[in-house]
Amino acid sequence: MVVVFDMDDTLFPEHAFVLSALATAGDYALKKWGVAGFADQAIALFQAGQRKGIFQEAFLRLEREPMTIEQVHELLQVYRTHAPIALPWFPDALRAMQAISQSHPLALISDGFLPTQSNKAKALGIERWIPEPVFTEALGREFWKPSPKAFELVMQRHPRENFMYVADNASKDFIAPNALGWRTVQVRRHEGQYRNTPAAPLGQPQQIISSLDELILLI
Ligand SMILES: [Mg+2]
Repeated sequence: MVVVFDMDDTLFPEHAFVLSALATAGDYALKKWGVAGFADQAIALFQAGQRKGIFQEAFLRLEREPMTIEQVHELLQVYRTHAPIALPWFPDALRAMQAISQSHPLALISDGFLPTQSNKAKALGIERWIPEPVFTEALGREFWKPSPKAFELVMQRHPRENFMYVADNASKDFIAPNALGWRTVQVRRHEGQYRNTPAAPLGQPQQIISSLDELILLI
């Protein structure tokens, strides 16, 4: 069986990337536009739960003119191309990777903007275990989950195998692998970002665990 992992919030806390990228966006805003305190404002908004319009809101709070569309795009570009030197693994994810790699082939399917996802994978050192991670955006924007495309690609790379997909977000992660006959496992950590996100129709995980330490017992 090939054990296939999602990346964000399955192997590492995605907010670690967000905080690092916002800090870099803050450095940029200071150098380029002389805006001081941008990162602190943006991080405070993120930590208060805001997920949209953070850049504009941070500018307003600093009593600046509203950002132009060009400025928003510029800062988004800085954010999305941010390449952290390192990112922290969930300790249980690292243990699972070390243990399961001894006995099973591993793969990775991750959604989101390139090069953001590829920079995250580099910062985690994913290639130690998975030399060819699949980034859905590299196949085309229309192949983000729930498209089956990335899952089919992994199946082509491992003919005559069974597959398990391990991920965290029931609104999109399990639709394609369920349809393709994979085993699906949701990691639902206590502090998980998508812990209470409702499952999509036909997107229920077949099994739910609270940490990847339990995965070793399932396979
Ligand atoms: Mg995820």
